[in-house]
Amino acid sequence: MAAPRPNTRALLRARRLGPAALLSFLVLVPIAPAEAAELVIYSARHYGNEPAFDAFTKKTRITLKTFNASSAELFERLKAEGDRTPADMLIAVDAGNLWNAARAGLLAAVDSPVLRANIPAHLRDPEHRWVGLTVRARTIVYNTKRVSPSELSTYETLGDPKWKGRLCLRPSNYIYSQSFLAAMIKRRGEAKTEEIVRGWVTNKPVLINSDTKLIEAVAAGQCDVAVVNHYYLARLVAKDPALPVAIFWANQQTTGVHVNISGAGVTAHTKNRDHAIRLLEFLSSPEAQNLFTDAGFEYPANPEVGPHALIAKWGKFKTDDINIAAAGEFQTAATRLADRVGYK
Ligand code: FE
Repeated sequence: MAAPRPNTRALLRARRLGPAALLSFLVLVPIAPAEAAELVIYSARHYGNEPAFDAFTKKTRITLKTFNASSAELFERLKAEGDRTPADMLIAVDAGNLWNAARAGLLAAVDSPVLRANIPAHLRDPEHRWVGLTVRARTIVYNTKRVSPSELSTYETLGDPKWKGRLCLRPSNYIYSQSFLAAMIKRRGEAKTEEIVRGWVTNKPVLINSDTKLIEAVAAGQCDVAVVNHYYLARLVAKDPALPVAIFWANQQTTGVHVNISGAGVTAHTKNRDHAIRLLEFLSSPEAQNLFTDAGFEYPANPEVGPHALIAKWGKFKTDDINIAAAGEFQTAATRLADRVGYK
């Protein structure tokens, strides 16, 4: 009979000598130390991630490494990296950007009962590849010295002749405008939306490619009304409470205010899916929502959580609750519509 090989022989000897010897044999085998848990976040949201990230790390000991860039850059990067990507999560602003990433196969479906409980359905991808974490309202702002709120009502009426030469808008090629039009198409149909946008164009709006500059133009009297994301006004008012610009909640008797999101999805090629889901669920929780939204004056997407005091003062308002995936689904239709009516 062939002699057993040395390691087998040692094991046999250990067995003969009893459990204590077997244990000492086993402890000689080196055990690799557990790897420190880390997640890599690609973020196109450059304002206010840190407080919630720090709280997550404190709670879970999972470190978060953030790589910041524009949505377009992160999209190209994820595509180029494919299954070699170090990214576990993508954070983006505007559902249109998340929709694009999902359609390109860059995000994995995560059907989490925690996310379903924390975030209303219209702020989540119906196919579970991204979820809204904050809400941004795109509504009307007006110069308080030149306009009475009683003169305002809907997005539609900004096409009334009385606003001729008094309206400022963001150009149509920016994603906020595209998503706004796309949601209008989903809600009202293409023909009705076209009629509304034609009304705006007839009023010869001044086009300014920055929401902050739009508000500054209203404050300076260059125009009397504009359509902007609410948090830009909040940031300016936080610095200058005497700013002569106020918010008006549009379409309260009809469709509600157009809202969009900043949100996130787990990448298709993450090697840390469980931890990434844990982070997503944490960010949607009452514990994290104010940490995640308050620095940038966004509304928490979790309806259990109230907003920062500065915007809480603006009161509650009715929002349009169509699923915000419309921002992606009707993006092309929105661009074509803007071209057709001459909204530059
Ligand atoms: Fe913004």
